[in-house]
Amino acid sequence: MFAMTDEGSTIDPTKPSIARVYDYLLGGKDHYAVDREIGDIFKRDLPGSVAIAFANRAALTRAVREIVTGTDVRQFIDLGSGLPTADNVHQVAQRHAPQCRVVYVDTDPQVLVHGRALLEQNERTRVVLADVRNPEQVRTHPDTTELIDFDRPVAVMFSAILHHVNDDEDPAGIVRYWRDHVPAGSYFFVSHFRSGDNPETRQAEAVLHKTFGRGRWRTDEEIASLLDGLEILDPGIVPAPRWRPDAVDSPWAGKGERELTVWEHLIVAGLARKAA
Ligand code: SAM
Repeated sequence: MFAMTDEGSTIDPTKPSIARVYDYLLGGKDHYAVDREIGDIFKRDLPGSVAIAFANRAALTRAVREIVTGTDVRQFIDLGSGLPTADNVHQVAQRHAPQCRVVYVDTDPQVLVHGRALLEQNERTRVVLADVRNPEQVRTHPDTTELIDFDRPVAVMFSAILHHVNDDEDPAGIVRYWRDHVPAGSYFFVSHFRSGDNPETRQAEAVLHKTFGRGRWRTDEEIASLLDGLEILDPGIVPAPRWRPDAVDSPWAGKGERELTVWEHLIVAGLARKAA
């Protein structure tokens, strides 16, 4: 019933996991009945859950591409990376620059098992089982130091992870830690649940708390304050579909800017840079 990873953590199919619920919302295959049950509650109470998951993923993909094509940064730390899905960070990055190196970090043992099977297809990726709330452990992990040269700029990806860190766990302190331990010219991508101050997001937050004991939908101001001391790049922290949309496949290309659905306002994305 319980599967043990080679690092001694157990995969428990009787308890829902954030990574597997997210995989279910993205239409993946790595989930159990308990995860689908929670995913279905989200789909019912927050009908835009699937749209939010896809909008987030698409913004992450664009951000990786922007970093690789627009800067010299060739190394990524993907915090709370999730289960492998389509267009994982190293696939997008290496499509543009094959020398890119990516360290995936997650607490979920299933991510470790599937990640190691599916992501470590080349010597330039690693999957680290660690808690983002302990950034020192992540940074000094042998797999991290083997792949990442901290004398050179790094892209630190906080994609849909900081909303799983409660206020009393100091999410801003986690970002600050990385800011203080990477060189100038490093990039920080953040996507985050944005509070619509409506009953749906309050209800979703309650479901996350009841199920996982964590989960925080933050306001624009709260999200921006997580990036304190960093230079937030254009177009700022905006609903994920509005973050540097692709000209060619944007649904509103050539037709003026389309209205976003109410749900698409509930996930924001932004890219920041550590100035010299
Ligand atoms: N980053 C991916 C993306 O944006 O598509 C996946 C996001 S998924 C919503 C959140 C992931 O964060 C899950 O895989 C979960 O296991 C992981 N996670 C949650 N809390 C964590 C923590 N404290 N440390 C490391 N990973 C965590």
